[in-house]
Amino acid sequence: MRNLIFAANWKMNQAPADAAAFMRTFTDQYARQQDRRVLFFPSAVALHVVVQAVKERADLEAGVQNIHWEDKGAFTGETSGPLARAAGARHVLVGHSERRHVFGETDEETGKKVAAAFRAGLTPTICVGETLAQREAGETLAVVRRQLRAAVTGVEASHLASAIVAYEPVWAIGTGKNATPADAAEVHAAIRAELRGLIGERGAAVPILYGGSVNRSNVDALLAADEVDGVLVGGASLDAEQWLAIVRSA
Ligand code: PEP
Repeated sequence: MRNLIFAANWKMNQAPADAAAFMRTFTDQYARQQDRRVLFFPSAVALHVVVQAVKERADLEAGVQNIHWEDKGAFTGETSGPLARAAGARHVLVGHSERRHVFGETDEETGKKVAAAFRAGLTPTICVGETLAQREAGETLAVVRRQLRAAVTGVEASHLASAIVAYEPVWAIGTGKNATPADAAEVHAAIRAELRGLIGERGAAVPILYGGSVNRSNVDALLAADEVDGVLVGGASLDAEQWLAIVRSA
């Protein structure tokens, strides 16, 4: 049986009251399906609402969109792994393209955040993906391999085996242009090979999600592509009805 993951990245949207209304609609209408898990990445200020809403459901989990690489200290405005864990998060997005390209996060910082996530008992979803210029220069596979290797520098194989990887081409995020299923399959195969190279056969079980303008119309085709174990969804995860349609697909 396939094990699918559907992850909602709400970015800087959904105030606590909006998150509460969304989660009420969602949990009322979505019955557990044995072959899939649904992850929610609300903003830090709405995390408590989502944690509360998923408390009774083993198939629903909450996470944060970012953490700092240090565990505590004078880092005004930041959230650490231990703080996120104590607030009920079980997951964290690391290396999202908006962190890399809007906030200038480097490969090295991403690696430190992945290590911090494991220290705190959070599962990192490690995001990798090329820009349009890199794709056009034929560098896609080299870029995602480099980002993946950098993200797991200093992480033990046993930890990496429990991570999630998300392939998110930068040119597809929030643009309405998704990768074709064939494009996704090619990059996912390269990521799978890299994971096997890093941790041997355990690399076969690491879920690889596709992200980038996924919606209810294209999700089935993307999930049918080889090595696509789920989706990471931004814009289309903000509307409860559309999100319900997405998580019920495949
Ligand atoms: C994302 O934020 O991870 C994402 C894939 O966004 P969107 O679905 O809006 O392209």
